[in-house]
Amino acid sequence: MAGTLFDKIIAREIPADIVFEDEHVLAFRDIHPQAPVHVLFIPKQPVATLNDLVPGDEAVVGRLAMAAAAFAKREGFAQDGYRVVMNCNRDGGQTVFHIHLHLLAGRAMQWPPG
Ligand code: AMP
Repeated sequence: MAGTLFDKIIAREIPADIVFEDEHVLAFRDIHPQAPVHVLFIPKQPVATLNDLVPGDEAVVGRLAMAAAAFAKREGFAQDGYRVVMNCNRDGGQTVFHIHLHLLAGRAMQWPPG
């Protein structure tokens, strides 16, 4: 199966503004930011949607949350706060089928989300 856009970013086949990388996770700025800070945290292991996670994949998602929180602390907005979102399939508004955690910060968020 052809890779997604995010596989191409991992492979450096298309450019991205990368803010963090380790063995398992890549993070880069969203090309259409919805807040002053909008970063996507993705696993290097391709998983299409949250529905496709299987037992044993706990760390795949856990690492995204840990990396996002570490980034928030490093960038100095952890105490002010931020929002993390993972969209799943049509009703969740997912458009790229490689799971990703959105980190949004730099403004007060609304609730409920649209
Ligand atoms: P979602 O709608 O939850 O699947 O999120 C996909 C996100 O990827 C959207 O917020 C897009 O703006 C973002 N996006 C799409 N193409 C790129 C790209 N080339 N570089 C960075 N972010 C992108």
